[in-house]
Amino acid sequence: MNQPKPLHLRRLTSGGLITNYYCTSRCRHCLYACGPRWEKRYIEAETAAANFRKIRQLGCHSVHIGGGEPLLNPEGLAAVLAAARDAGVGVEYVETNSSWFIDPEEAAALLTSLKKLGLAALLISISPFHNEYIPFKRVKSVIAACRAAEIQAFPWINEFYREIDSFNDGITHGLEEYAAKFGADYLKRLPSRYWIHLGGRAVKTFQQAFPARSLEAVCADSRAGCRELLDTRHFHLDLFGNYIPGLCSGLAVKAEDLGGPLDAEAYPLLTALFNTGVAGLLDYAASQGFEPTEAYVSKCHLCLEIRSYLALEKQIGSAELQPLAFYENLGS
Ligand code: SF4
Ligand code: SF4
Repeated sequence: MNQPKPLHLRRLTSGGLITNYYCTSRCRHCLYACGPRWEKRYIEAETAAANFRKIRQLGCHSVHIGGGEPLLNPEGLAAVLAAARDAGVGVEYVETNSSWFIDPEEAAALLTSLKKLGLAALLISISPFHNEYIPFKRVKSVIAACRAAEIQAFPWINEFYREIDSFNDGITHGLEEYAAKFGADYLKRLPSRYWIHLGGRAVKTFQQAFPARSLEAVCADSRAGCRELLDTRHFHLDLFGNYIPGLCSGLAVKAEDLGGPLDAEAYPLLTALFNTGVAGLLDYAASQGFEPTEAYVSKCHLCLEIRSYLALEKQIGSAELQPLAFYENLGS
């Protein structure tokens, strides 16, 4: 029998640093299943520095900062920006949902102080998902604060601005209100208007909106292995020192193992996924008592169901299925 090929991540192309998973919101599309029930833990300056050194070592010279909500801990974010500067890694932008905004002067002062540490731009989330938790008035206020502090504001995405602004901007609005105003298929149409990856919480949210495929078809397509695990165009390293391969949230590689071939014994699940795809993972999970249903939306849907089973029901305690709270927070 052939030896499985090791997953080998040689270079990092483009990505970000996750400072925290706790968040004021619990958006239904969140790839990283962030939310208020996560432990209020923020990246330590030493972990940020080690991550930045690794990022540079593997050929990447600038990143974005994301969460969770990075601005929930301004001192922590200041330390991260300083660590990036010291490591010679540029910060393209910091993502924010605007929940931290209280007062225009305070917001402008905070952004001005972070600008001195290298903050050049905020990517400001604008979507109906975010509006379920954050009144739009706060988003507008953060855009104004960026102007006052003379840093760039990237509204992500502007296409939703008018729709969201058609409601009372002082309060939040559920997706049901959007459906009532813009059509019953509103939720179903969202993936074609906004970049949504069918992973994390988005899988359950959009499960009904996509055609299901048979288990056999999903497995047959994936047997060549998941090349996505090699994709470093949207990588993330997090506060726990985990590297998240591809867009496969809930899977983890220790940052210190990047750059060399991953040992199949230390990384059995990732090795199976890389060589034989979700079909290989299913073989292992079946031996652990996992019983698949007849149909799934995609291979990643099946993969997430299997991993949730192994992490939560079987409690296999795998270093590859991290952070565990990701699986605990998948529900909306
Ligand atoms: S999408 Fe952003 S704002 Fe929404 S829960 Fe995830 S991290 Fe928080
Ligand atoms: S099946 Fe799993 S490992 Fe493969 S791309 Fe999807 S989430 Fe990633």
